[in-house]
Amino acid sequence: MLAKAIVHYAPVDGEMVYKIKDVEVPDPGDNELLVEMIATGICHTDIFLASAPEGPRAKYPKILGHEGIGWVRKVGRNVTSAHEGDCVALTVANCKECRFCTSGHPTACKVFNSLNLECPPGFTSTSEAGDKESIGGYYFGQSSFASWSNVLESSAINISHLITKDEDFSILAPLGCGFQTGAGSITNLGGVTAEDEVVITGLGGVGLSGLMAAKRLNCKTIIAVDRVPSRLELAKSLGATHLINTLESDYKTEVLRITEGSGPTVAMDTTGVISLMQDSIEVLSRLGTMVLVGVPPPGAELSFEYFSFLSTGKKIVAGLEGDAVPWTFIPEMIKWYRDGEFPIDRLVKTYPAYDFGKAIADMNSGETVKPVLIWGNTSMR
Ligand SMILES: [Zn+2]
Ligand SMILES: [Zn+2]
Repeated sequence: MLAKAIVHYAPVDGEMVYKIKDVEVPDPGDNELLVEMIATGICHTDIFLASAPEGPRAKYPKILGHEGIGWVRKVGRNVTSAHEGDCVALTVANCKECRFCTSGHPTACKVFNSLNLECPPGFTSTSEAGDKESIGGYYFGQSSFASWSNVLESSAINISHLITKDEDFSILAPLGCGFQTGAGSITNLGGVTAEDEVVITGLGGVGLSGLMAAKRLNCKTIIAVDRVPSRLELAKSLGATHLINTLESDYKTEVLRITEGSGPTVAMDTTGVISLMQDSIEVLSRLGTMVLVGVPPPGAELSFEYFSFLSTGKKIVAGLEGDAVPWTFIPEMIKWYRDGEFPIDRLVKTYPAYDFGKAIADMNSGETVKPVLIWGNTSMR
């Protein structure tokens, strides 16, 4: 099967390098599904990993993309969860066997890194000189920056029974990572209830989907924090009760003022800015929970004053993908969206897949919250 794909090569001076090219996709293996991609969201993790220097843990060339949605066109002989013609939302891969997978925490899978990040050969291409080039695939079990890709069965959530006649697939694509991470971090990691006073630092796709989840739970206070006025306005329209622009006012002073001195009961950080996380831990209420979601630079360390932490019973929790069980959480989020309680359509902007560069630029500039590439019916086909 010939496909179009965004192929990443080793970065130069920390800048990612990619080419849009034809690649050959082999028949699916026994535990794989051949998926014709409809749409793929772009997540900051894609940019982060495409910019990582080449080394034993970062091999190139490879095909990234981990928020895919598409049609199953062929299945391997061991596949039971989907059939030809089904619609699948793609998410992180897991082994389904380790004690974390079998106890309801598949995103903490013991072999998460090897299943999701190693990118063994998955595609080939032919250079102009006629040489064969092997290209890494199976990124997050899916490598969905390709119009066709072989996907691990554990990454494919069959949502055929949940889609409508005129479904907007671009909105559902980011459920597999960004929206799942935001909503899961509030509901699963934060254990948020209506009584909570929640602060969310960083209003990208993850922060804003977390905010929607907090709003859905009727939290009495939802404080949205960012430095981009348009993001703060968007947060307000999605249910934030208070806004803090950290360029204009002091974060700690404002949070304490809004919570009448007691501090938020749950703080979720999506920025990865260490000083901001430390400030959040400091202002957290007694028995409050700090939820770590953001990605700081490699090697970053977090510190806090020990005795005030101990004496107030605070907690710090962290996790990938909001510690969600994707095969139940993704259908649940689709239901919230249908019921008007999770308006993720407000966050998505679509781009033809060949406009990858523009989509990335708009995400980096803050103009677009969640860019989604459209594979179907583009001029690439
Ligand atoms: Zn596992
Ligand atoms: Zn992601």
